[in-house]
Amino acid sequence: MRIAENLKNLRLTLPEEITLVAVSKTKPIEDIEEAYASGQRIFGENKVQELVTKWETLPKDIEWHMIGHLQRNKVKYIAPFVSLIHGVDSFRLLREINKQGAKNNRKINCLLQLHIAEESTKFGLSAQELEEIIDAQIKEPLPFVTLTGLMGMATFTQDEDQIRREFQSLKYIYENTKQKLPSVQNLSMGMSGDYPLAIEEGSTMIRVGSKIFGERNY
Ligand SMILES: *Cc1c(COP(=O)(O)O)cnc(C)c1O
Repeated sequence: MRIAENLKNLRLTLPEEITLVAVSKTKPIEDIEEAYASGQRIFGENKVQELVTKWETLPKDIEWHMIGHLQRNKVKYIAPFVSLIHGVDSFRLLREINKQGAKNNRKINCLLQLHIAEESTKFGLSAQELEEIIDAQIKEPLPFVTLTGLMGMATFTQDEDQIRREFQSLKYIYENTKQKLPSVQNLSMGMSGDYPLAIEEGSTMIRVGSKIFGERNY
């Protein structure tokens, strides 16, 4: 009951137009079933094997989002069913997703991940690399991918001003990208610790795990 309660309370605080991705990584099937029973249909995972197992086990009307770092050699396992890949951080990865999309005869929705945080450990494209991919996609679109938006993660810090600045810079790049490529319509930013700030700064999609499912034990 705790998960259903958490979800209900969270939804009450969210503007209607915000898409909520319930991040269920490391959590058991029963937890996802509880969230599903309370109406949640979009779930996010960051490991390919776990994502595949959960997709096989759970109801087929769930939209599965891949939110973690994705290796090229693993795209083939999720290509048949994944509904959105959040962390595309290279043109090579995007081309592999296109190739696997072709094999499965489906267009795969992707978000390009921007590096906005101070930490060098967080994955993502620079603004320059992003521009190159967008320009290429305008000139000669890969037929089996749709670039539906951008994703980013702020620095893990207590400094709200810094988080806000990072979200603002992502939002600015998002608006520019949207002008150039109209399929770009989603900005995935905000997690349990910073989603209220992210929404204030223009997020359209938040990825929330621990606030729904409780802390994770790795
Ligand atoms: C785990 C994860 C989240 C959710 O984190 P919480 O702090 O538990 O809400 C969001 N985005 C990505 C990319 C993640 O890996």
